[in-house]
Amino acid sequence: MGVPTLGCHCAVCESPDPHDQRTRPSVLLTYAGRNVVIDTTPDFRYQAMRARIDRLDAVVYTHGHADHVLGLDDIRPYNLRRRGPIPIYAAAETWLTLRRQFAYVFDDALPESTVPLVETHTIEGPFDLFDVKMIPVPALHGSGSVLGFRFGRAAYLTDFSRVPEASKPLLEGLDDFILDALRYVPHPTHSSVEQSLALVRELKPKRAWFTHICHDLGHADTNARLPENVRLSYDGLQFEVQL
Ligand SMILES: [Zn+2]
Ligand SMILES: [Zn+2]
Ligand SMILES: [Zn+2]
Repeated sequence: MGVPTLGCHCAVCESPDPHDQRTRPSVLLTYAGRNVVIDTTPDFRYQAMRARIDRLDAVVYTHGHADHVLGLDDIRPYNLRRRGPIPIYAAAETWLTLRRQFAYVFDDALPESTVPLVETHTIEGPFDLFDVKMIPVPALHGSGSVLGFRFGRAAYLTDFSRVPEASKPLLEGLDDFILDALRYVPHPTHSSVEQSLALVRELKPKRAWFTHICHDLGHADTNARLPENVRLSYDGLQFEVQL
C-alpha cells in the first residue's frame, strides 16, 4: 500500500525519516548501458523520474498483483524514445493477468491515442537478458505463485510466503539477497521478519535486504534489532552486484 499508508497516522507513517517513506517495490538493474526493471508498480513513473531513467530496455515481472504491474501504461514515453516495443518477460500465469488488466494494450483495434507497445516473452526457465543470465526462482505467494530472479551473485525475491526446497539451491552463494519481509506479525501471503531471518540463516547470503516492508516496521528501530548483515532496504537504495 506504500508508506505513509493512506489515512494512517502511526509513528512510521508520520515519521520525519525519509527512509520511512516507501513507494511500491521494484528494482532497476543497470548494466552494459541498459536499464531493466523488475515490476512496474503504481509508482513506476515517479520512481523512473527519481532514478532519471532515460531509456527502458526490458521489464521482468514477478507476478500479476496490482502493486507490481499497474505502472505498465507509463512505459509509453520509452516506447516513443526507442520507436518500438519494449520486451516484457512474465510467467504464463502473469500474462493471463496482464492481458486481463491491460486488455486495451493487447486489443488489435487501432488505438486513437498511444498505448504501451510490448514484445511478449513467456518465462519458462532461465533466459538471457543482454548477456546476463536471469534465473527464475519459483516460490509460493499464499495460494498463488511468484517468481524471484537470480542475476549473478544477487537475487530478488519479493511477495513470497514459502520457498520450496527445489528453489533453494538457486539462492545459494549470494552476495546480496533482496527478500520480502512485510512485518513482524505472520501474514498468509508474505514472509515475516522472523521467517525471512530464518531463510537468511539457512541460505547464508553475505548481505540481505528486506523489502515490501509495511508501516509496522520503522527504518531505524528495525535496523537496530536486525543482525548486521541484514538491513531494511529503502527507496533509492543503490549497490553494485557481480553479474
Ligand atoms: Zn501507519
Ligand atoms: Zn503479491
Ligand atoms: Zn506485493
